Amino acid sequence: MNGYQHLFIPGPTNVPEPVRQSMNIPMEDMRAPDFGDFVSGLLSDLKKVYRLQNGRVFVFPASGTGAWESAISNTLNTGDKVLMSRFGQFSLLWVDMAERLGLDVDVCDVEWGKGVPVEDYAAKLRADKSHQIKAVFATQNETATGVTSDIAAIRRALDDAGHPAMLFVDGVSSIASIEFEMEAWGVDLAVSGSQKGFMLPAGLGILGVSDKALAAHAKATMPRCYFSFEDMIKLNDTGYFPYTPATQLLRGLRCSLDLLLEAGMETVWARHKRLAQGVRAAVAAWDGCELVARGPEWHSDTVSAIYAPPGIDARDVISTAYYKYQTSLGSGLNKLAGRAFRIGHLGSLNPVMLCSAISAAEMSLRDAGAQIVPGSGVAAAQEHFRVTTPDMMQHT
Ligand code: PLP
Repeated sequence: MNGYQHLFIPGPTNVPEPVRQSMNIPMEDMRAPDFGDFVSGLLSDLKKVYRLQNGRVFVFPASGTGAWESAISNTLNTGDKVLMSRFGQFSLLWVDMAERLGLDVDVCDVEWGKGVPVEDYAAKLRADKSHQIKAVFATQNETATGVTSDIAAIRRALDDAGHPAMLFVDGVSSIASIEFEMEAWGVDLAVSGSQKGFMLPAGLGILGVSDKALAAHAKATMPRCYFSFEDMIKLNDTGYFPYTPATQLLRGLRCSLDLLLEAGMETVWARHKRLAQGVRAAVAAWDGCELVARGPEWHSDTVSAIYAPPGIDARDVISTAYYKYQTSLGSGLNKLAGRAFRIGHLGSLNPVMLCSAISAAEMSLRDAGAQIVPGSGVAAAQEHFRVTTPDMMQHT
């Protein structure tokens, strides 16, 4: 009766109707003679989204965090030195996992609002003449702060230093949404999950692995079991799994891959950029609000974290949006709690949907006491969308 509850968190994202329908099917036999062909097709199409010619992609019944654990435990040894940076809740959690798994972590702490400190990484790599650093980690898109880092620049830093360390990338809120080139950027392990750019419910941890990382795996001795590459490789080679796969999610993944690949990854990336620019135009129009990202070079095209004006509790904005305007905005995580709210703009979205998110945020900001001009953000976004949105009639 009251319409939909609107979802504008940065994952889980909206599931498109065809994807939802594709999962509304009876249970099936995951050892059926034709199931292997179905899975083999999925794995090879996932490589197209990851932009990977060689190597492999694994799909675990897990979330992104499980794929993180699989990446580390299959390719590194306890006590290995790794280079990481921490500038938001998710890069922080990745450091925590690496430490708990027994890695010797050299952490660069960075102001929240900036991303991977490429110059610092470059200096540390140049100084590491004996190649003690076995892996360099980068969170491509820090979902807590709406900050995107330059992965190609990290590759250049490794190459310029002539350093053989593996490159690990957290692409949970970037892969299938913004530009990601696993092979061209020489990424060795790339993590994502089903619930963001892939537009599915949570439940799949997806991991791209380069040939170099597969070779490292042969020598890596860290204990692993459920997330072991060996067991997966043995069965995946014929399209099956070492344990019960989430068959409905895999059927949904088939549909979402069809949607993504039919559109073309460049088109998907361009749409995310246009949508993000509209949100940023709205934020710029709101007096007293500003992005957590400290400059355009850090702007994320999948999520905007927005400081509420001074004196306004961002928790009130989020709660009013939820209860009064039936709209879920992302919360401020960790030290951003109360100071910032987030608008997720990834996955299955269009400009008019985003205008409703901006409108709900604007009304909630005013309800919380912010002195912003009514309609100012929506008007700025509308003008951006009006000018930049392709007219579908001209493409048919
Ligand atoms: N990394 C990033 C950048 C994320 O945004 C998230 C979740 O939002 C994670 C890792 C953790 O992934 P999951 O919740 O799927 O385990």
